[in-house]
Amino acid sequence: MTDSLPPGLYIVATPIGNLGDITLRAADVLRRVALVVAEDTRVTAKLLHHLDLKKPLLAYHDHNADRARPEVLRRAAVEPVALVSDAGTPLISDPGYKLVREAHEAGIAVTTLPGPCAAIAGLTLSGLPTDRFLFAGFLPPKTVGRRKVLEELKPIAATLVFYESGPRLAACLADIAAVLGSREVAVAREITKLHEQVRRGLAPALAEALVAEPPPRGEIVLMVGPPVAEAVTAADVEALLRAALVDHPVKEAARLVAARTGESRSDLYRRALTLTGRT
Ligand code: SAM
Repeated sequence: MTDSLPPGLYIVATPIGNLGDITLRAADVLRRVALVVAEDTRVTAKLLHHLDLKKPLLAYHDHNADRARPEVLRRAAVEPVALVSDAGTPLISDPGYKLVREAHEAGIAVTTLPGPCAAIAGLTLSGLPTDRFLFAGFLPPKTVGRRKVLEELKPIAATLVFYESGPRLAACLADIAAVLGSREVAVAREITKLHEQVRRGLAPALAEALVAEPPPRGEIVLMVGPPVAEAVTAADVEALLRAALVDHPVKEAARLVAARTGESRSDLYRRALTLTGRT
């Protein structure tokens, strides 16, 4: 029968607010699976109701995962089983990675149906660099733990992406300003929902503004731009170039200093040739 799906685990992304964001394939697979494994069966029952589907549901969340996993694997070995979370992409700050790992180990087919993910949606709205980013999930709830993690993340040359809650946002931004300094930040709230909003600014200014306001409602993705390269003077560049030329040939020295300063590699190459007396 064309309607049957092969056995296996189907990782199904679901909307993060706007039900219109369910993909055609997600709706089709949810219609055809034998079982839907869900973080909160009541939340998923509402989505299935919206899709006009009635499916057997099995709860799989942080508190029962170890107990429930063998049953999910047993079922996925012989019939199609969908894994969904309350919203967005399963496994991203949501349960499921051990299930996927054990399914692979048991030789069970695993496939994914990509779709909404708050981290990626937030990044696209942020106006921050997207070529390199680090998703760090939720920061610790208290200042000491939060600042410790931020110290670890400080040197990373990438946009940092966090999930955060409204009541903690101001304190979190204050810690970001204290530890990471005056970096660009973007707060994306209620993405795909009626009150979708993006606020952008420098961490200290946004932290100050938020302290004076009631905590924002709804769900939040908080993003922090990469460290800004400190302004380098012409004298600094020359000193770096001279130092690099001690241990490296001209081309490599120019490449290294270009990576460090953002200066043009070909300009640096020409200057390095001059410094070494080759022009
Ligand atoms: N797996 C989900 C995903 O792919 O987006 C994320 C699950 S995580 C438990 C839930 C967090 O994602 C929320 O606390 C919030 O920080 C963020 N989030 C989810 N939906 C959002 C939305 N519509 N707008 C902004 N942030 C959202």
